[in-house]
Amino acid sequence: MFGHVQPGPPDPMFTLKRDADNDASPEKVDLGVGIYRNEEGSYQELEVVKKAKLELDELDLGHDYELTVGDADFLRLAAEVMFGAHSGALRTGKIQITSQVKDTNFSTQVCSVQTISGTGANSLGALFISKVMEPKPRVYIGVPTWGNHIPIFQNTGLETTTYPYLDASKHAVNFTALLDTVRSAAQGSIFVLQGCCHNPTGVDLSLRQWEELACEMKYYGHLPFFDTAYQGLGDGLDEDAAGVRVFVDAGIEMLVCQSFSKNFALYGERCGALHFVGNSQEVAANVQDRLRSLIRHTYSSAPAYGSRLVKIVLNDPDLRKEWASETDGMRKRLKRNRQALYDELAIRLKTPGDWSYLVKEKGLFSCLALSPSQCRELVETYHVHLPGSGRINLAGLSEENVKRAAQAIDKVTRTH
Ligand code: PLP
Repeated sequence: MFGHVQPGPPDPMFTLKRDADNDASPEKVDLGVGIYRNEEGSYQELEVVKKAKLELDELDLGHDYELTVGDADFLRLAAEVMFGAHSGALRTGKIQITSQVKDTNFSTQVCSVQTISGTGANSLGALFISKVMEPKPRVYIGVPTWGNHIPIFQNTGLETTTYPYLDASKHAVNFTALLDTVRSAAQGSIFVLQGCCHNPTGVDLSLRQWEELACEMKYYGHLPFFDTAYQGLGDGLDEDAAGVRVFVDAGIEMLVCQSFSKNFALYGERCGALHFVGNSQEVAANVQDRLRSLIRHTYSSAPAYGSRLVKIVLNDPDLRKEWASETDGMRKRLKRNRQALYDELAIRLKTPGDWSYLVKEKGLFSCLALSPSQCRELVETYHVHLPGSGRINLAGLSEENVKRAAQAIDKVTRTH
């Protein structure tokens, strides 16, 4: 029955990680897999998570099933992180106006369900769209993007197509092309938008661009599908949600995927949420109930452990402050690493090319303007691990290795 089954497509990030882990060279610099690493190149548990674990231990809640959609307090707190504690969208009634694109007639309501982290939020959102939207909309996905976006939507039977996201020559959003696509897409199309710290480019929309995009998306009647996996690692927790909040203020129905993998360093716990922003309490309640049934029929109920830790932290004003300061620490270190690499390449080594994008881009990633063969040489000759696309994880740099990494980048830039 299964003799015809072929192996799945290879996962380049898995191979990259395996090769980097197996590289015993003291020269190794691992800039590959997209995980926050500390100065020593290791995973680092947040101090607030350590405290929450002790508190959870004392609470001794046992291991009963969690509710299908997850714990209500966790969901309220997660929504607050995304939409802002004072967002009117989280209450009944008119929304508060914070941006220039405002719609005071739109009575925004948010409903939320817990998901198997950000990937699960994307999958559940895609499944929901494939089940409830008629006719089935086309899903527009930026180029380049996170490697999972296209397969996730295609797995649910939705048709995907692309929109140009990056103008590689300028290291900037190709905003004109994005708007052109929005204007030419059939009404009711889905646009997948990364809320901040774009993977793989580190290039985000400005506030003004979010506002313009929101106006156009609303005018053409499209559904924004926000994916926010790195909130807090770009400009700050609230600043990184600015795009999402502009769309809320504009009174646009949308879906928002949220991950606590990076900003809580809870990778293995698979903790996240899917939020729906709708135009009435009744719509939001119906959508939440539909999501409940999709969860029930897919994996039955929410995982409990990660969300209990996040809830403990976000529910306690002191721990919440400490969490904000810990995410700020990660964010600042990423900025320092960007500056250090820029200083080495542009100032000390005078490596040919414009490296200023390194300090303008945000979050964990930037794409080095290198060819696949230059990237291969970096791995094979210099033990600097990165994929052929040139995407680097800035967290993999440290005071100890940044000179070595820059020297190698300088060499491959000059010799090709
Ligand atoms: N979305 C984007 C853009 C990502 O880069 C990632 C992680 O790499 C995710 C979603 C999902 O991450 P997780 O499932 O660990 O929350």
